[in-house]
Amino acid sequence: MKRKSRLTKCIVCLLVVAMGLGVSCAARGVIKYDVHDTTRDHPRVIAAPRQFGRPPADAIVLFDGTDLSEWVSEKKGGGPARWKVENGYMEVVKKAGDILTKKAFGNCQLHIEWATPRKVSPKETGQKRGNSGVFFMGRYELQVLDSYENETYADGQAGSIYGQYPPLVNACREPGQWQSYDVSFLRPIFDNSGRCIRPARITVFHNGVVVQNNVEIKGATAHKKKAKYNPHADKLPLSLQDHNNPMRFRNIWIRELSEQPYLIKD
Ligand code: MG
Repeated sequence: MKRKSRLTKCIVCLLVVAMGLGVSCAARGVIKYDVHDTTRDHPRVIAAPRQFGRPPADAIVLFDGTDLSEWVSEKKGGGPARWKVENGYMEVVKKAGDILTKKAFGNCQLHIEWATPRKVSPKETGQKRGNSGVFFMGRYELQVLDSYENETYADGQAGSIYGQYPPLVNACREPGQWQSYDVSFLRPIFDNSGRCIRPARITVFHNGVVVQNNVEIKGATAHKKKAKYNPHADKLPLSLQDHNNPMRFRNIWIRELSEQPYLIKD
């Protein structure tokens, strides 16, 4: 009798585990396919841009050179972004604070162009020269810096994931030249207890050159602090940093990317 009930318990446990796995797989939308499976959904068709660097049809344009209507100030109370807009670019106004998008994003593709000041003062060296940053989800910084013949710590130069990964190469142009970042960002995922079960990942092209190749972000980027994850929402605004330098930005667009369930480990 005792043996029978133990066996029943075991069967019930196995059923519960199997059901649980089934639910988690279904929840993640994981479907197994054969090679060249004709039942597999086809990707949707989108109109690609006629010119490289321009937004594809499904992109959200965050700045087209005319206004900051897609942005707000990060300063207490929010309100309109107070950076300058002229000649098709926006420019950081010292002490106006960071700006962040009104919309929130998770997995995304971003295109952004930036220029550091043409005139370089000899007093502006290292992190003081042409500093800004693109913060994914407001906490993971892709460094923007004038790294043209300007030495600083490697994990803080242009194209670095600040404090974590130097760029693979230094592809920086001369001060005042327009430069581009093309980025693919995969958001982190947290379980119900707040544990990070999939760290964020990022791939970055600087002026068309790969500088970050699918690296795993270690947590929120910080100055002289070890990065760590704190749980947060699935989507959060993107922000641009005011680091007291009159940095310029233009042609900013973003595409939301759907989740690829096979990238989530059980
Ligand atoms: Mg910065």
